[in-house]
Amino acid sequence: MEAQGARLVLDLGRPITVPKDEDVPLPPVPGLRDVDPSLLGVILSHPHLDHFGLLEKAHASVPLYMGQAAAAILREAAFFSPSGLTRAPTGHLRHREPFTLGPFAITPFLNDHSAFDAYSLLVEAEGRALFYTGDLRAHGRKAALFDQLLRRPPAHIDVLLMEGTHVRPDGGPEHRGASEEDIEAAFRQTCVTSPGLVLAMFSPQNIDRLVSVYKAGVSAGRDLVVDLYTAAIAAATGRETIPQAHWEHVRVYVPQAQRTKVIRARAFERVEAVRSRRIYGEELAARRGELVLLFRASMGDELARTGCLDGATAVWSMWPGYLREPSGVALSTFLADRGIPLAIHHASGHAFIADLQRLVDGLAPQRVVPIHSFATDRFPEFFPRVDRKNDGEWWRV
Ligand SMILES: [Zn+2]
Repeated sequence: MEAQGARLVLDLGRPITVPKDEDVPLPPVPGLRDVDPSLLGVILSHPHLDHFGLLEKAHASVPLYMGQAAAAILREAAFFSPSGLTRAPTGHLRHREPFTLGPFAITPFLNDHSAFDAYSLLVEAEGRALFYTGDLRAHGRKAALFDQLLRRPPAHIDVLLMEGTHVRPDGGPEHRGASEEDIEAAFRQTCVTSPGLVLAMFSPQNIDRLVSVYKAGVSAGRDLVVDLYTAAIAAATGRETIPQAHWEHVRVYVPQAQRTKVIRARAFERVEAVRSRRIYGEELAARRGELVLLFRASMGDELARTGCLDGATAVWSMWPGYLREPSGVALSTFLADRGIPLAIHHASGHAFIADLQRLVDGLAPQRVVPIHSFATDRFPEFFPRVDRKNDGEWWRV
């Protein structure tokens, strides 16, 4: 965005459609690659790669603004996975607390999404107002935030920059789908019926899902076993309401791959911090009917060796498309070879069309500009006052 010669970047993502090993250049924005004080900063709406993945390439002098917990989560993730971020933010986003950068007034709105500490952003400059949804939904654990936005919307919006993940090119667009509550119920059912371990496969950064799996397990008499990564992410949220390693019904299993990582980095304080909560193969095997385990394919062999997988049920709780990729196919084969049934319990991180329609009604923008969709041409079928824009095109708000 540009106003009075000053510029602002909202999100700097790596396209989800580009293979991981392929290089993606920074967009041609002056100041991203080199020092240019007219670039006032990058504002990250939430900690998902398709919103922050190119930030590591940006010049160290570029100011960065994001949620405090989001930054802490990505700092922890950097130790365990390639999808973290160690750069320290210049400032933090806070729910409905406006701040100014040069000619821009920015108001973050905490929202309901599968990433923790995610925001929509109202940006005002030169008497005009743009509302960027970021990624959001109305069927997660923080759905109340979506309703609050509709009850207390910004006074005036010229442009609504709106995500449309569920506006799809083929098949039926999704008007409605499973909610986070539905997923908790489905997990509970699996916990009741599985004779052995429930192997829950979800992203440790999907905190809503962590809570759903925990609640489902405990209500069915099972403790939750997380790995070191998940324990670190839960701690990074800084919230005592998120299942933490020291909770009565939470234990920590440190798989071989993470033990090796800790030893290589000499980061022994990471295991020391969860020492009293650790669980090992023998206890996992003996109590397998009383536990839900956060599972990843790399743990498969070590768990199978110690008899932990006898009678197990696996639950895929991420985007089902990943199962069609080579790693997903290998995982399915591993489970099938051992007679472990695979269920899918997943709720989307993105608003369904019926909720996006409520959003457009509630925010009453002058125009709706589609983003974050593979079928922006279909927006006029569902929403009024749609104004499509092309990548790389400059236009007035
Ligand atoms: Zn997202």
